[in-house]
Amino acid sequence: MVVAIDGPAGSGKSTIAKRAAEALGFHYLDTGAMYRAIAVQARAQGVALDNAAALRAIAETDPIEFGYTDGDVLPSRVFIAGTEVTDAIRTPEIDVAVSPVSALREVREALVAQQRMLAEGAADEGIGYVVEGRDIGTVVFPDAAVKVFLTASAEERARRRAAQNLERGLEVDYEATLADIVRRDEYDSQRELSPLRPADDALIVDSTIMTIEYVTNLIVEQVEQVRSA
Ligand code: C5P
Repeated sequence: MVVAIDGPAGSGKSTIAKRAAEALGFHYLDTGAMYRAIAVQARAQGVALDNAAALRAIAETDPIEFGYTDGDVLPSRVFIAGTEVTDAIRTPEIDVAVSPVSALREVREALVAQQRMLAEGAADEGIGYVVEGRDIGTVVFPDAAVKVFLTASAEERARRRAAQNLERGLEVDYEATLADIVRRDEYDSQRELSPLRPADDALIVDSTIMTIEYVTNLIVEQVEQVRSA
């Protein structure tokens, strides 16, 4: 069973998707981390962010893998072509670089194919999969059993993202964080390919004034409803 969780930057997707996966005993996939890893690799190799052929080559040949931190039940580490990029994918520079990279058809096709393969692997093991991103319910898994589109006001999302970055020990500038969120929302919603939008059959949840626990429970309940149907 696939649980698709989509939404804009800072909507709480990652935290909620991880909590839901833990509560359900499902695998978890952060597709944003995959687009970010391609952007990091492009930067490392000096590839221009509009060089579709070179970016396709990276997406098709450099394997992206997820790893575990000791004691964790969900993967939190990211590798591309064997190099760890867990911290490198979260810098403000990559926040900017990832948008043009993820707008390219060549990159999306390669990564969507990998996302579907990962889900097939989980299904073969008989394990459910919580997948978070922008186009999971609309394009990657249009038949997902549960689809949730998470949103929150831009100000609340910027506040959450700034708090997260502070926790990671990064320098925080609230106004710059808000500007990045608004810019990425616009870019992701207006791009031609797989724009950010809720699937017609998604449950739309505005988490501005909801707790993480409340939204997580909502998702778990949706899964239980599907199971008992
Ligand atoms: O989720 P996160 O903010 O880490 O995603 C980073 C970027 O990757 C997004 O701004 C978007 O441009 C892109 N992305 C995407 N499709 C996905 C997941 C992320 O285009 N399924």
